Amino acid sequence: MYILVINCGSSSLKFQLIDSESEQMIAKGICERIGIEGSRLIYQRPGYDKLVTDCSMEDHKKAIQMVIDTLTGTEAGVVRSLSQIGAVGHRIVHGGEKFSSATLIDQTVMDAISLCSELAPLHNPANLTGIRACRELMPETPMVAVFDTAFHQTMPEEAFLYGIPYSFYENNKIRRYGFHGTSHAYVSERAAQVMGEDITGLKLVVCHLGNGASVTAVKFGKSVDTSMGMTPLEGLIMGTRCGDMDAAIIRFIAQKEGQTLDEIMDILNKESGVLGLSGGLSSDFRDLEAAYKEGRPEGQRALKAFAYRTAKYIGAYTAAMNGVDGICFTAGLGENSPVIREMICGYLGYLGVSLDREQNEKRGKELIVSSEDSKVKVLVIPTNEELAIARETYRLVKEACL
Ligand code: ADP
Repeated sequence: MYILVINCGSSSLKFQLIDSESEQMIAKGICERIGIEGSRLIYQRPGYDKLVTDCSMEDHKKAIQMVIDTLTGTEAGVVRSLSQIGAVGHRIVHGGEKFSSATLIDQTVMDAISLCSELAPLHNPANLTGIRACRELMPETPMVAVFDTAFHQTMPEEAFLYGIPYSFYENNKIRRYGFHGTSHAYVSERAAQVMGEDITGLKLVVCHLGNGASVTAVKFGKSVDTSMGMTPLEGLIMGTRCGDMDAAIIRFIAQKEGQTLDEIMDILNKESGVLGLSGGLSSDFRDLEAAYKEGRPEGQRALKAFAYRTAKYIGAYTAAMNGVDGICFTAGLGENSPVIREMICGYLGYLGVSLDREQNEKRGKELIVSSEDSKVKVLVIPTNEELAIARETYRLVKEACL
């Protein structure tokens, strides 16, 4: 069965068509600038050149129509008709406490996703727009919602509660939810396989290091703590997000700089992290690494702070699990940057972590990069959130057919 995986943002829509049997990607692409002038569709098939089509996409329905037309078209199509697409899997950012696993989408589920919108006001409404558009254009095709937060619903109370009045949790569900769950689940499972161990006996720390970055403690296959919080702002220093900081700073900035709450939140989300630390040099770690290697202080302080914070979380989660068997690196930076892995692992000598320098230089595939005598295995596991969503979608649709 072919599964269409959709990741719908406010002005973009990423898609992948995956064959559930072979687990191969058949085609993928992105619709950019939806609802904005200059919208275009970028489309790729393995073995073919990228196709870029400039076309007006005034809303997500038009974007999905474009995707369907391209997938079924005579020029670059990969399916004969829409009926060949057996199901659609939607990436949904926030499932609140309501969703601890993926679920088939019906009106009740859509209403529940809508209720979670106050926890993710930028993401969930956009995700729902994608669901509604697919529903109109492919009314007969089953759809599944796969939540970024679901994997972390196993966290115990002591890990998810904040030290604020308990009534805030009771009345408004203010708590840690965590994100990147699909990636943390996929990577921890793959890591166990690469280690040749059963995941139910392993203590793993998964570092998902991309523009957005989070660390998760995965004990015996379950998330027991994670660095992102009620929103994806908490935890690590990220590309443009600040991560952990003293909450009182917000009031201090408001007074000193005369900025509104919305303006400050914008700065913390979009102008902070390594971009802010590097004095605006870049949020892209490739630029920062180049500056670091040239000995420029902007690059040095940004990367050092990033690596230090990440290592601190690995230490904290080792304590939370009372030990660690494997540390996994994934996502753009985690998979591709030997320098960052080395900087982070440089703090972990007390755990008996030792890197194999030659292995650590390799990239692009699943690898053990720790040396033979390392007490803790260090792994690079390329994430594949789309495949994980396609697997969940296929599983649920198959179950529903039985
Ligand atoms: P997201 O999905 O959160 O947007 P990605 O997982 O695609 O992010 O990761 C993007 C980050 O990975 C960027 O900061 C980019 O600089 C970094 N990255 C990608 N390739 C490399 C590389 N070869 N060396 C260092 N950093 C890299």
